[in-house]
Amino acid sequence: MHILIIEDEIQLCRSIAEGLRMDGYEADTCFDGNEGLELCMTENYDLILLDLNLPGIDGLELLKQFRKTNTSTPVLILSARGQIQDKVEGLDLGANDYLTKPFHFEELEARIRSLTRRKFIQENICLSCGQIHFDTRTRKTCINSEELLLTRKETALLEYFLLNQNRIISPEEMIEHIWDGSVNSFSNSIRVHISSLRKKLRSALGFDPIQNKIGQGYILMEEIQ
Ligand code: CA
Repeated sequence: MHILIIEDEIQLCRSIAEGLRMDGYEADTCFDGNEGLELCMTENYDLILLDLNLPGIDGLELLKQFRKTNTSTPVLILSARGQIQDKVEGLDLGANDYLTKPFHFEELEARIRSLTRRKFIQENICLSCGQIHFDTRTRKTCINSEELLLTRKETALLEYFLLNQNRIISPEEMIEHIWDGSVNSFSNSIRVHISSLRKKLRSALGFDPIQNKIGQGYILMEEIQ
């Protein structure tokens, strides 16, 4: 899950990013409206956290521009302005939710979970595939009710596979959604994370639920075909 935070209070922006990374999300930071719009338009984010008072173009203008070409990526406005008029305007321009600063990080986490689940039309906080169960709140994976210990990267990969079951995921898509902007090719390190995740799943399940479709990508399946 790849999140962009556009917020010019650098300290706040960095601490949100850090908190989200601890939760297993990939987080990019941006401190300026123009740069933020550019990133929104060129990268494929799963969620955007947007401040309203920004240098360059302000948040409402950014949202307006962004929604002309993208109506599906959820946008959560984070702003110190508590006035009802700004909320109404933000929501009218296509924001999906609104959080007034200061806020508790836990509330932000809950809203992010709700917005990203909504995007994937998931109603449960628990994602499953056969015997694999993943709790999006505690970020714990269980197989046959036994906890499977995964690294942060392996967890992010598994979550993405669970949200996109029975569909081949290309390496490019994985880079966009699971790795942050720092990686631009399907490097060996990515293969290493996938192969260690597959190894752990295989040893817990007795088979490897992730298959490699040569030249296309990887797919998570409930049973061996
Ligand atoms: Ca601001």
